[in-house]
Amino acid sequence: MIVCCEYDALPGIGHGCGHNVIGTAGAGAGLALAALAEEAGGRVTILGTPAEEQGGGGKKRLLAAGAFADGDVAMMVHPEPGDVEYVPYLANEQLYVAMHGKAAHASSTPWAGVNALDALVLGYMAVAALRQHLRDDEKVHGIILDGGKADNIVPDHASARFRVRARTKERLEPLKARVLACFEGAAAQTGARLEHRWLGGYADMRSNRTLAAAYRRNGERLGRTFVDPSLIPASIAGSTDMGDVSYALPSIHPVIGMVPLGVVGHTEEFARWAGSEAGDRCVIDGAKALAMTGVDVWTRPDLLAEVRAEFATTATQRRAGRAGLSRRAGPPRRTAPAVSGGVRCGDDVLGEEAHDARAARAGGRAGTPARCRSRRAAAGRTGAAPRCPRRPSRGPSSCRAATARRSPASRRRRPPASRARTTGRS
Ligand SMILES: [Zn+2]
Ligand SMILES: [Zn+2]
Repeated sequence: MIVCCEYDALPGIGHGCGHNVIGTAGAGAGLALAALAEEAGGRVTILGTPAEEQGGGGKKRLLAAGAFADGDVAMMVHPEPGDVEYVPYLANEQLYVAMHGKAAHASSTPWAGVNALDALVLGYMAVAALRQHLRDDEKVHGIILDGGKADNIVPDHASARFRVRARTKERLEPLKARVLACFEGAAAQTGARLEHRWLGGYADMRSNRTLAAAYRRNGERLGRTFVDPSLIPASIAGSTDMGDVSYALPSIHPVIGMVPLGVVGHTEEFARWAGSEAGDRCVIDGAKALAMTGVDVWTRPDLLAEVRAEFATTATQRRAGRAGLSRRAGPPRRTAPAVSGGVRCGDDVLGEEAHDARAARAGGRAGTPARCRSRRAAAGRTGAAPRCPRRPSRGPSSCRAATARRSPASRRRRPPASRARTTGRS
């Protein structure tokens, strides 16, 4: 197994993300497991994984270099305000934009210039206007890197770096197009020339629920109280290069309570907590909970089999989901999709996993329209009333699957493993 010792910091803040806790908890877990490896017949890799914060993608590079190739599972733990065994981390990608204009005397000959800063600011404001129309689990944020050299010169160059995030890698693509369009429009308005580069990013985190549940049981044995993961909306999630790892092998990225509610990450206040006794307690408890989970994997073959089975199933669902998305590929969607025969269900904002799991139970394909149709069909078989709990007011035109899910007949059809995946309690 592989224990990731993530280690990075934030410019000007330091450990505002508590990676000092992550790295040392990982090292502690790895050392404990190494001492037990021979007896348990296992093997542990303590892997230093740098460069997570600014898009450096340390784990992606290690993944590409084969560092995770012989791992059964990968684990790490991250400090946060509470203990939760899995969090819906978002896919992301960074964007570099530069506007090229034409310099001129800002007072005597401004008509001879093209203001690159104006172009960039218009693009920045277009992104701000776009935000109203994003889903809760879609984020765009950025900084201006260069806004000109002197206030009496019309800036001939201005640049910015943005980060775009969405619930899944697939959902990121149309959002990226919408963000880029903001800057293309601004360039067209001002006569500036837009240069852009997508700088790469991270996949969404697909936590292995079976392994996460084992971590939770161990955390509870240490006296920690866990928050129900279903109460953690994707709208409060960040991103991590552990997401890419989670696509390659069964992985967990639980969070461990270090700060009171209200203390937010990426701040100096959080950094102070990371250097406090509370941070030290997280190092010890995090190391123990990860090590105990590792021992479970080594000593309970049924657990590893279940972890692998879940990973295989979710990988199949991902492939089916991608096929569904490519079937309906087209220009980026600017407004809510047209409802055709009432096949769209509002609960797709919960994310692909929950929705695809439901589609699988209903015997249908993934992909939003298809899975809703499949669920309608399932509801039809059970004779259930057509009502979606997410949009109860919509009546017959909404998805019927949820009602089918509630019916005893559908409950009997549902395999136990699928139920565990949906609730995160296995
Ligand atoms: Zn961070
Ligand atoms: Zn972090």
